[in-house]
Amino acid sequence: MSLFTPGRRWQPAYFPFKREPFGRRLLAGIERVVKGPLFGCRMCGNCVLQETAFICPMECPKGARNGPCGGSTEEQCYVDPTRPCIWYKIYERSFKMGREEKLLEVLPPLDWDEVGTETWGDIWRQTRKVGLGKVARGLATRDPVQRTETWESVFRPVRQPDWWQGDAKYHPPAYEEPASELERRLRAGEFVVTAEVAPPMSAATGLLTRNIDLVKPYVAAINFTDCPSATPRMSSLACSVMAMQQGAEPVLQIAARDITRVGLQAHVIGAAALGVRNILCLSGDSARMGPPPLARSDVIDIDSIQMLWILRRMRDEGHYLDGRKLKKPPMYFLGAAASPFASRPEFQALREEKKINAGAQFFQTNLVYDPDGLEIWLNELAKRNILDKVYILVGVTPLKSLRMARYMHEHVPGVRIPDAIMKRMEAAGDGAGEEGVLIALELMEAIKKLEGVNGFHIMAVGWEKIVPRLVTEAGLTAPAKLETPAIATPPSAQPALAMH
Ligand code: SF4
Repeated sequence: MSLFTPGRRWQPAYFPFKREPFGRRLLAGIERVVKGPLFGCRMCGNCVLQETAFICPMECPKGARNGPCGGSTEEQCYVDPTRPCIWYKIYERSFKMGREEKLLEVLPPLDWDEVGTETWGDIWRQTRKVGLGKVARGLATRDPVQRTETWESVFRPVRQPDWWQGDAKYHPPAYEEPASELERRLRAGEFVVTAEVAPPMSAATGLLTRNIDLVKPYVAAINFTDCPSATPRMSSLACSVMAMQQGAEPVLQIAARDITRVGLQAHVIGAAALGVRNILCLSGDSARMGPPPLARSDVIDIDSIQMLWILRRMRDEGHYLDGRKLKKPPMYFLGAAASPFASRPEFQALREEKKINAGAQFFQTNLVYDPDGLEIWLNELAKRNILDKVYILVGVTPLKSLRMARYMHEHVPGVRIPDAIMKRMEAAGDGAGEEGVLIALELMEAIKKLEGVNGFHIMAVGWEKIVPRLVTEAGLTAPAKLETPAIATPPSAQPALAMH
């Protein structure tokens, strides 16, 4: 386990925006020279090395500061295959050092005013604030609890500014009535189905409205993706509003890739005012996955866990990230993606726990073709005692062809298709589409028996017309909605749009 990691670079080193006094510039220069080769430090000015097993996470091309993305594997970063996933390395070392619980603390986004500046000065100032003698005595004691407390009295205020105050605790939602029909059904113990409808590539809405009408009777809610593969399409919010006008309940997806903290808060207030009650918080595919020319991909403002933390606090504590009070906090049911087959199941379980602590109330998983592997992941969640804190909707995608199966297996991050399924698709020849549906139905049959699974999330990838058949033949036809659903009144004025 080497601490010396020269040349481990992805994002460019950060430099301060403003001209600092000479002393701070000198200290920053020394810090850069020492911490760069030792820890792969990028001089983000918001040091979190204490929590990340002394490996700087800022090498991650997606700027993730709270754990691996759904594409993380042992072998390589999915965005830049020439390098390992830095978060896999952080998790591996943390588990080896017995520091894995430290990874649960929800770390803040960068304060860009600090970016490029030194952190050692902050540590020194905090040490003086606590008292030099007190810190020296606390660190010299044999009592490990007192040593940890002293250490934390210096480092915690440096890494957790007042405007963030992240922790490693579970925060149950602070409202009583369900925020949405989807939440009501899940609370009632119903095995639900949600489905994804692809937003159109243009301003034409004909296919979108037909697909919404097609799947609406069979599902509890419809997801609208937010520019998957970093490719522009109609916005998830526009599709969500159209779905509500057609009497369907939407799940608004938000990719952190394309949004700053300011835009995010404005976006969810607007969405809540329009009546959107389900939000899925995602990191989003890297801009590198999208068509050229490459968008800026080395400066990311927030990650999906920070998004959950911000949105949960807006709803439950009624304030913006900057601390201003919200007169009418937005109301929503918060979801996140989960990836049972990325990295290692115990790593993923810790990552999922962090999402739940930050605010995730439901998971929609990546595509699952291996119920046994899914069970291993569920067992890891059970070991962390989190199955009763989240609803899990397992991702299902019927395979249309052998080519699609191969593409999914080889190119879609976090997707693994077992050999047995590949062979069946190969043997089916021209009947591969029908074979794919039969495989999906068999998988659904096996997965719905697993403890901890609360439903399915069907991602038909442009094959929306298969959704009614899958739901019907799997015996999951949705019961009628309540006549007078007990759903929390939105804190904003009644939505101007027609609601079901
Ligand atoms: S696989 Fe994901 S988390 Fe890991 S370094 Fe690459 S982008 Fe970051």
